Amino acid sequence: MTTGSDTPRGEAAIRKDHDPFWFLHFLFFLRWTSYLCPYCLEAFRRDSWPHNVRLGSGERICGSCGKIFDDGAREWPELLIAKKFRCFFPPGIVAMCVSFLLVGIGALLVAPRDQVNWLMVLIVLSVFLSPTLAWCLIRFFLVRRSIGRYENDLASLRRRLEFTGS
Ligand SMILES: [Zn+2]
Repeated sequence: MTTGSDTPRGEAAIRKDHDPFWFLHFLFFLRWTSYLCPYCLEAFRRDSWPHNVRLGSGERICGSCGKIFDDGAREWPELLIAKKFRCFFPPGIVAMCVSFLLVGIGALLVAPRDQVNWLMVLIVLSVFLSPTLAWCLIRFFLVRRSIGRYENDLASLRRRLEFTGS
């Protein structure tokens, strides 16, 4: 359990890892992280990945006690490059992309030699990579919305002014 600290958005949310099957690594999907309001400890979100990067203003009003706290979300321009990458390609998506790619390559390897040509390779790979491409497209629009919020949102403008001290 990680206790919150003060951030420009107020008290940070509390992170609590639930890992009941930690000794069975292949059951990784049965682990989750919940995020709690730092004031009333009401859970407001559950993630299956421990360090999921979320896009958002970061300021959240607790549905239970009504206080404002920092839920850990950040807008795209505020993220460091490593977090940007993680936001675009979370581990689950990378795993899916790699396994689909391997299945696609496997399908090409078992196909009769005389039927494999570049067009077929292209078709097979695009079919198996289409879920990943769809994901990237959705992410792209979410990132654009995040940049828009960052540039136009009054709360975010106020925070940036307070930060730079101008
Ligand atoms: Zn609360």
